[in-house]
Amino acid sequence: MKLEDWHTHSELCRHATGTIEDYVKKAIELNLATIGTCDHFPYEFLKNIDRIPYGEYAITIDEIQDYLATAESLRQKYKDKINIRIGFEVDFFENQESALNNHLNKVKSRLDYILGSVHILDFQDGKGAWGFDDSRFKEDYEYYGADKVYTQYFKTLRNMLNSEQFDFDIVGHFDLPKKFNDFPNDKELLINEAMKTLELIKHKGVVIEINTGGLRKDVKEQYPSEELLNHMVDLDIQILLGSDAHKPYQVAWEFNSIIDILKKIGYNHLTHFEKKKKTLIEI
Ligand SMILES: [Zn+2]
Ligand SMILES: [Zn+2]
Repeated sequence: MKLEDWHTHSELCRHATGTIEDYVKKAIELNLATIGTCDHFPYEFLKNIDRIPYGEYAITIDEIQDYLATAESLRQKYKDKINIRIGFEVDFFENQESALNNHLNKVKSRLDYILGSVHILDFQDGKGAWGFDDSRFKEDYEYYGADKVYTQYFKTLRNMLNSEQFDFDIVGHFDLPKKFNDFPNDKELLINEAMKTLELIKHKGVVIEINTGGLRKDVKEQYPSEELLNHMVDLDIQILLGSDAHKPYQVAWEFNSIIDILKKIGYNHLTHFEKKKKTLIEI
């Protein structure tokens, strides 16, 4: 089978290196069937982001048109060699969906998919929103502790799933708070919070990304963990693969070993998106 990588970034989001074309060329070299480009959607129209160094997280509003035009011209240029699918990784901020939609709705018809992610938490305690997967906020992570971070994270993910205004197709890096290898003291907490969230994902018919970026981080495992993958297959939740590449050489990172794990667990299909329409491919 030919593999598909749905989660790659480029230098446009200011914390990755390489142009979109560099990632496309790498994907062709690896003989992938599809590469999805999904840079971070802008933040600057959001409220309560004073502490967030969003200038280094995402493209800007002014760059949206350029991003799409570049990706579209590459899609044409390489159409005989690879499918290029165009998306955004969009952060969920509670109660700010209409500000987001003011910008996102203008370009949605040009997108193949939207990856919905939570990187930012707000405990509503006056300390302001902060990025729990950014090592510069390690003090905040320690201040709240893993039990509170995981609980708040999964609650925010469920709010994202329940939001009628937040339109997305795929949940990104499902158990991201483990990135730095921090886990709750309460052993049941992670599985209980995750299961509540997985049942909601099943109910909403949303896809989960198997993100191999975690294998490059302190935790050294994909998101979600193998334990959660077993529950996902029981719930019949659909999946696809993403490397979260921030450098061209990371495209399709460890995909062959992940495919082996998925087959062993009982997965035999991955999803594919084109203009937000989902189809299944066999593995
Ligand atoms: Zn992300
Ligand atoms: Zn990403």
